[in-house]
Amino acid sequence: AGRVEGKVALVTGGSSGIGRGCAERLAQEGAHVVVTDLQDDKGAALVAGIEGAGGKASYLHHDVTSEQAWIDTVAAVKAKHGRLDILVNNAGIGLSGSVLEMSLTDFQRQTAVNLDGVFLGSKHSIPLMRQSGGGSIINMSSVAGLKGAAILAGYCATKGAVRLFTKSVALECAAAKDGIRVNSVHPGIIETPIWDTIVGTGEPGDNARPPRGPVLDAMTADGVPLGVKGYPEDIANGVLWLASDESRYVTGAELVIDGGFSVK
Ligand code: NAD
Repeated sequence: AGRVEGKVALVTGGSSGIGRGCAERLAQEGAHVVVTDLQDDKGAALVAGIEGAGGKASYLHHDVTSEQAWIDTVAAVKAKHGRLDILVNNAGIGLSGSVLEMSLTDFQRQTAVNLDGVFLGSKHSIPLMRQSGGGSIINMSSVAGLKGAAILAGYCATKGAVRLFTKSVALECAAAKDGIRVNSVHPGIIETPIWDTIVGTGEPGDNARPPRGPVLDAMTADGVPLGVKGYPEDIANGVLWLASDESRYVTGAELVIDGGFSVK
């Protein structure tokens, strides 16, 4: 049997990058994965790929910043599966720029996705998890939630907040003896499209910033002790462990997966 056999998992922002990797890995190990995102075509293609490989998955359009969307999504999961065991609060955006140049609108948009989304996900999923007899919530923070980064002040603020929100909800669930564990994951430099908005793509109109590949390679050479970039499956393997009963004694923890980036 798979390591999360028969469990129902909800992965937000699951159409791309790390979320996509988590959806694939959880499905490989026997979960039914509900992928949610704003990118419907990519989500549908992912689900088709998982099903083609013999896994179980479905897709729902879901904006994590909308409380009504959370209510509808959890209701849909309950109607279809009757339970929810795993929540990966993964959806996130990264907006870079000097504090002096960032608009309040962009600052708040980033907070809405990266922090409000995690709050709403916890608030609306915990009741169904309690009815299911327990569960595992995994919040995608970042190395940017452990230390600061120039031109990423707003992003770091959201990720640092997710880190302590996680520990606080872990305590609340533990006190309720509801069987729900809550942990954060802190990726380092992982090759995904999110870096296009952080460092630019080099496409015309993109402030003539350099393409993400060479920038990531330079950051990695300079800052990552293991000397290589990470890939979504590197994060997915940690998420799988936190999602599974193998981590039954782990709550309020922060799992850093960064090739040593944060300790240098
Ligand atoms: P990505 O851009 O590939 O994927 C993010 C997904 O979230 C996209 O599919 C996007 O459509 C979705 N999304 C954005 N706003 C949404 C919303 N309002 N509602 C629902 N879905 C929404 O990026 P990624 O690198 O895979 O990022 C996943 C998570 O990992 C993010 O929280 C990010 O901050 C975090 N992270 C990434 C890295 C990295 O190096 N890639 C490092 C640390 C943390």
